[in-house]
Amino acid sequence: MSAVPVEHLDELQAYAEAVAGCARCRLAQGRTQVVFGSGNPHADLMFVGEAPGFHEDRQGVPFVGQAGRLLEKLLAGIGLSRQDVYIANTLKCRPPGNRDPAPDEIEACESHLFRQIELIEPTVVATLGNFATKLLSGRPLGITRVHGQEQQTTIGSRSVLLYPLYHPAAALYTPAMLKVLESDFARLPELLGRTLEPAAAPEPELALVPPRPPAEQLGLF
Ligand code: SF4
Repeated sequence: MSAVPVEHLDELQAYAEAVAGCARCRLAQGRTQVVFGSGNPHADLMFVGEAPGFHEDRQGVPFVGQAGRLLEKLLAGIGLSRQDVYIANTLKCRPPGNRDPAPDEIEACESHLFRQIELIEPTVVATLGNFATKLLSGRPLGITRVHGQEQQTTIGSRSVLLYPLYHPAAALYTPAMLKVLESDFARLPELLGRTLEPAAAPEPELALVPPRPPAEQLGLF
């Protein structure tokens, strides 16, 4: 378990309350509520998905539908529950009709995610699907190419191991993808035990922002 200073927990709560009123992009208009994230604010393992869907928007909690149940099952397979990890999304508000996030929406929302990661201080950030993977890796490579390949990166002042995984919603309907997801998932305990190189001192103006590809490269594949 990370040693997260108490003030970081207060800051995370305060930040969640501030984001609850965010109107930085058009998604503020159609949402029931902001879905900030849930789980253990001390978590060593954090998941970042795509965006809230219908049920998440209603309940205010990420990954509560079928994809959430699959995620819980996968977690149980490595001896964890959702109370042990922190789960968030790239976008905090539901896109209408569950359409893909738009590049300008990702750009508007990304600082919320970076701040969340900085306050939670996870060791491993598992990105679920293309949008989170491309944003946090700063590379345009799709999930089919990079799933299961960990990469050390710096977010804020902290080194984290980025670990791209297929999105559980995609794996639900594709048995071959589910097998790959299960096998990638099984490596998480080993990755959580890794000792990371300390982060290099960041340029002051880049402190919270990992490298990112041009907005148009954040597409599905
Ligand atoms: S999606 Fe993000 S940037 Fe857009 S309104 Fe919601 S919290 Fe704000």
